Amino acid sequence: MSTEEEKKKAMEDWEKLKAAEKKTLNDFRTQLAMCNICAFCRIRCPVYQQVKWESVTPRGKMQILRNVVKGWIKPTPQVAERIFSCTTCQICNQQCDAEVRPFDILKVARRELTEQGLGPLPEEKKMDRRIREYRNPYREPQERRFSWLEVKVPKTADTLLYFGCVTAYRYGETGRAIVELLRKAGYKFTITSDEGCCGMHPYWDGEIKLSAEIAKENLEIFRKTGAKEIVTACAGCYSTFKNVYPMLVENFDFKLRHFSELLLELIKKGKLKLKKKSPMKVTYHDPCHLGRHAGIYDAPREVIKSIPGVELVEMEHSREDSQCCGGGGGYFTAFPENSVAIAEKRIKEAEETGADALVTTCPLCRTNLDLAIKRLDSKLKLYDLSELVLEHVS
Ligand code: SF4
Ligand code: SF4
Repeated sequence: MSTEEEKKKAMEDWEKLKAAEKKTLNDFRTQLAMCNICAFCRIRCPVYQQVKWESVTPRGKMQILRNVVKGWIKPTPQVAERIFSCTTCQICNQQCDAEVRPFDILKVARRELTEQGLGPLPEEKKMDRRIREYRNPYREPQERRFSWLEVKVPKTADTLLYFGCVTAYRYGETGRAIVELLRKAGYKFTITSDEGCCGMHPYWDGEIKLSAEIAKENLEIFRKTGAKEIVTACAGCYSTFKNVYPMLVENFDFKLRHFSELLLELIKKGKLKLKKKSPMKVTYHDPCHLGRHAGIYDAPREVIKSIPGVELVEMEHSREDSQCCGGGGGYFTAFPENSVAIAEKRIKEAEETGADALVTTCPLCRTNLDLAIKRLDSKLKLYDLSELVLEHVS
């Protein structure tokens, strides 16, 4: 697919997503009946590839939901367990030629099951409680959020850097790299010490009320910084701001960029000068929430290709066809073993390219891929894009 075609497709997907948001499961009766059980979705579903149960495949879930909508089976905790067995990778939507769009239906199903008290799954519920209480999923104190930040930044600026909980509390080195790169480039930005969770987790759990409360609170916090633009360090936060916030709060009118897009601009403008170190072969993992959910495939690749001496090699599954790391949609929280096993497959695919390093642009993918690397005792070096670039900046 060309860049223009990808953009057009991302726009069409977004329009369909917006329309789907207002629907109930009952509105999908016809689509559910349109599933011809061809199994094209099953082939690529990461959860099915790991679990091997028909009932967790997108088509299996469609059959369960068709029966629920028809009143032939009751929604039960077992039904909820199958429906929530999903990483929200969204590949089933593009695999389906029958226009069923299983992922869109699953999102509505999660919301309805949660409204009925059957979802989210127990561990996910605990996570949402922690997010409500501590404003992060780790039960960390707010004052530790930026403990890695070594420089003072102005309280207001046109650009707000938003790190997200995983970077802030688990990958301070990524946070530091991003700040250092912007300082080197002379790019003005602010960071708010009030930053809290973006609300992505409760949203995908169907806890829409909680995610809407978080979005409202965040909107007020963002406004206080005077920013017109928000740049995120995390693919998940980015897709939440881009795709979800406009539906949860009014006037969410910020320009949004993932950090990879800003990095590319700074490199193209010559604000960051890159130098050759030892030659290196790297492969890039597209986070589902930056790729299929938000249509950003080129910026990270162009940044990698602009580093002298760094060769980008693609995995068998890349761009819109990329394979999920297994960590999204609360799947890691509810099914950690299966989640890391899915990441192991991705690591093996990365190893097959002969690359020295694996680069990603999502700290949540990184968490899962990191665990898989350790389990496999892989020699692959794992980078966030910002850290790879900082290593090569003059
Ligand atoms: S690809 Fe579409 S039609 Fe085929 S089994 Fe999956 S949901 Fe059904
Ligand atoms: S979104 Fe991904 S994990 Fe979920 S059912 Fe579809 S293919 Fe499977």
